[in-house]
Amino acid sequence: MTIATSEQSVIDSVNKQLFIGGEWRDASGGGTLAVEDPSTAEPLCEIADGTPEDATAALGAADEMQEEWGKTAPRERGEILRRAFEKIVERTDELALLMTLEMGKALAESKAEITYAAEFFRWFSEEAVRIEGRYAVPPAGAGRMLTMKQPVGPCLFITPWNFPMAMGTRKIGPAIAAGCTMVMKPAQQTPLSMLALAGILEESGLPGGVLNVVTSSSSGGTMGPLIADPRARKLSFTGSTEVGRKLVAQSAEQLLRVSMELGGNAPFLVFDDADVDAAVEGAIVAKMRNIGEACTAANRFHVAGGVASEFAEKLAKRMDAMKVGRGTEEGVEVGPLIDGDQRDKVGDLVDDALGKGARALVGAEKMEGSGYFYRPTVLDDIPEDATLLKEEIFGPVAPVASFDSEEAAIAAANDTEYGLVAYVYTSDLKRALRVCEGIETGMVGLNQGMVSNASAPFGGIKHSGFGREGGIEGIEEYLETKYVAINL
Ligand code: NAD
Repeated sequence: MTIATSEQSVIDSVNKQLFIGGEWRDASGGGTLAVEDPSTAEPLCEIADGTPEDATAALGAADEMQEEWGKTAPRERGEILRRAFEKIVERTDELALLMTLEMGKALAESKAEITYAAEFFRWFSEEAVRIEGRYAVPPAGAGRMLTMKQPVGPCLFITPWNFPMAMGTRKIGPAIAAGCTMVMKPAQQTPLSMLALAGILEESGLPGGVLNVVTSSSSGGTMGPLIADPRARKLSFTGSTEVGRKLVAQSAEQLLRVSMELGGNAPFLVFDDADVDAAVEGAIVAKMRNIGEACTAANRFHVAGGVASEFAEKLAKRMDAMKVGRGTEEGVEVGPLIDGDQRDKVGDLVDDALGKGARALVGAEKMEGSGYFYRPTVLDDIPEDATLLKEEIFGPVAPVASFDSEEAAIAAANDTEYGLVAYVYTSDLKRALRVCEGIETGMVGLNQGMVSNASAPFGGIKHSGFGREGGIEGIEEYLETKYVAINL
């Protein structure tokens, strides 16, 4: 398939080299790796395939710049972020097209991600000038206590393919605001959005060496040596729990400050006093945003017995009406999955549930032709031992199970090692508060299907990780507290 001229021109506009110490350069050895369009399974372009030596050079550049950058005026750091925010907004259309080409999601969803991604820069441009310490009289009255906040130091960032820009700005924004330098390794499936972002930050006046970007086909090979390098002070990772666990173990060597934004298994609870139509609309957002490939995706629906069939049928009707196709096409709401492995995994989870007695109301099959498309699916009568109740589906599949009491609903919601987000639909205020308190997650969507907001603390508990991104909490991950005991 030949791609449209506008598509080729956004791909051509991105620098495909490594960005180290403010310079764009080829990988040492000159290797490249292919970026693929998941809607056609065809290559889009080649980018630099960074080596461990390149990664070490990137950390060297970050380390060299740390002291100077940490002393840069907060207003200056904030204004760089503000300028970058404005440029991202101005270029929303081209950045969204680029993202759709490499990741697959519909253009409208890519635009929504660009807006969300840019918001982290606006938010942290405002936070950069509000880093404070305190001066206090200790309880015994003698002496004084002074606390000050200082940048953590050079940071290592590793991001996933599902939100190619927002998962980056959520780390880069607060790091710039706090005065930290960094090495960023984006996912190899979706590096173009991050390379475009690096270009925007460069144009916005970010000094060379503050942000270094290394793309590579060998994540462990390039980032492993940096995690073991005493010059790095922090590791922030967004990705799967499996990889996160390994990285936490590796980071123990240098006792790095660590933030982990990991996988989820979000329960979506609908009580019998809920507005069922509103719950279905919320379910579409919570399930189908990003083709179901979101850590926040509703993974399983637990619905009160009295309204479960009505909910499942209405949801199936909405899902069945969604247009599936290449994300660049008019009216498409559901793009392809990221690759063949991901589609096979989704298919296996559905087959497992059907084999154990679940019923497909709609979908339950992959789509023929090129690209990795899977039909939006609703499964009813989900047996308790279905694997998709336990594992992250990461696809457009909604399993609906029923419950018969509030206690049973909370117990079902908490029956997972994950703890990122839950969704609760009820019109009873007391129940809403009881359930929000009883649920073991870092975030709850109460009568709404989306929680993501740059001004809110995003993050999980249990095996969904630790640390918070966004909100007033987000910058704390990049600051150390120093206490000075003063003898008056
Ligand atoms: P992944 O864990 O396979 O990869 C994430 C990143 O880690 C990629 O850049 C990858 O190249 C890199 N990586 C893989 N192995 C590595 C290693 N040994 N050393 C260093 N880096 C390594 O995850 P993915 O498939 O890209 O993304 C999907 C996962 O991300 C899902 O589990 C999803 O829930 C999670 N996620 C979580 C959040 C959150 O905020 N909690 C947000 C988005 C995605």
